Amino acid sequence: MSAMNPRLTGIGMTSQRTRVRMIERLRQQGIQDEVVLTSMREIPRHIFVDDALASRAYEDCSLPIGFAQTISSPYTVARMSELARSGKPLKKVLEIGTGCGYQTAVLSRLATEVYTVERIGPLLARARRKLVELKCSNVRTQHADGSQGFPDAGLFDCILLTAAATHFPQDLLDHLEIGGRMVAPLGSEEQHLYLIERTPQEFKETCLESVKFVPLLPGLS
Ligand code: SAH
Repeated sequence: MSAMNPRLTGIGMTSQRTRVRMIERLRQQGIQDEVVLTSMREIPRHIFVDDALASRAYEDCSLPIGFAQTISSPYTVARMSELARSGKPLKKVLEIGTGCGYQTAVLSRLATEVYTVERIGPLLARARRKLVELKCSNVRTQHADGSQGFPDAGLFDCILLTAAATHFPQDLLDHLEIGGRMVAPLGSEEQHLYLIERTPQEFKETCLESVKFVPLLPGLS
């Protein structure tokens, strides 16, 4: 993929070596899923941020991507991807909040199909270009308010929210197949990451660590 294109390969602070160091740090932080780590080693994170911020792309922090939004930190992307996979290949994943498209690109290596929804048009347009550049051909995008899911796409084995909701939208829960899982931040001032598993009887909620995400907002922009 990247051998031909120096922008994708990166140099110095955006080089493959810097990416490998990020992976080592993720391991030290407790990420164990090798499939997730491989995907994050292969996807050049620096192309998803402004050129001026590219040299910081592999630091463990979130960064601004314009329109008052942020790209999640590498640890958060890794943690959510690991929870989404729970050690198994994913078939059909829905991501709410495409943002810059980095988490989408990581997911595209973990799942057969990825559906992603973003409410801010220009952000989505930019993300689409990156996903095409990286040949993530199993990704479908939609400019919409993701609280309603991805109409006509059927059920998903995993749903990932990358913006914090104040409650879990029922429309989204209804798009989970039995045995499916949703990984989502919940709360406003104080937020926690949740894992919701749909069993034949119920939606089982597990509250995980405290997190900080931008809010899930209604409508289009
Ligand atoms: N996964 C992204 C995270 C971006 S931040 C990344 O790695 O870059 C969260 C994103 O969720 C923002 O781009 C925001 O515009 C989007 N968002 C917030 N509410 C939304 C909604 N109701 N529907 C779709 N996208 C939403």
